[in-house]
Amino acid sequence: MIIFVGRSNVGKSTLIFRLTGKLVRRGKRPGVTRKPVEVNWRNRKVIDMPGFGFMSGVPKAKMERIKDDIVRFVEENAADIELAVLVIDGKAAPEIIERWEKRGEIPIDVEFYAFLRELGIPTVVAVNKIDKVRNVGERLNFLAGKFEVPYQEISEVFVPISAKFGKNLDVLRLMIEKNLGKRRVSEDLQDNVGDGLADTIQ
Ligand code: GDP
Repeated sequence: MIIFVGRSNVGKSTLIFRLTGKLVRRGKRPGVTRKPVEVNWRNRKVIDMPGFGFMSGVPKAKMERIKDDIVRFVEENAADIELAVLVIDGKAAPEIIERWEKRGEIPIDVEFYAFLRELGIPTVVAVNKIDKVRNVGERLNFLAGKFEVPYQEISEVFVPISAKFGKNLDVLRLMIEKNLGKRRVSEDLQDNVGDGLADTIQ
């Protein structure tokens, strides 16, 4: 299972469509439906989680509920989630992050990244709408600082993309494949270790 998470309006459904060819659009008011949307892709489930964070016209209590539901879903399915793709708006994210920090709060994207990592879920951060950003390298460095990703690991975690204009999606695809492979390899290793133990005990 692969999950896509992110604020509403970051381009999550555009990206999923670009990658999988599947439509996950849920009606006219994005983000209002709270249920995860599931599509099948290459024998895997791809889940589009409801957008979290601020949405104009949605009451704060409802936004909190959406966030809680996402957290619960991820916790309950952690063992089956092979990869999370956290989609952020590369243009808007820095300003939003700094606004939250000024209020003394942990920015929700940063919080989600830490949460996914804590659960041991491999996570790729798709920095979308990069067509609107001038200095991409600088932006990635800034985000890495906020997400506490070491400098040497930036290219393993962050991928600047434009879902709308199809930019760098091949790089994202490769990162997805690499991460899926990693998990499988480590599971195989665990199986082997298990077999070895069983042999020893017998
Ligand atoms: P979601 O709410 O995260 O699923 O976001 P959508 O996929 O519905 O996209 C929200 C808006 O952002 C739409 O108007 C998209 O056309 C636009 N959008 C998505 N990806 C990009 C991108 O890479 N660049 C730009 N400039 N706009 C984008």
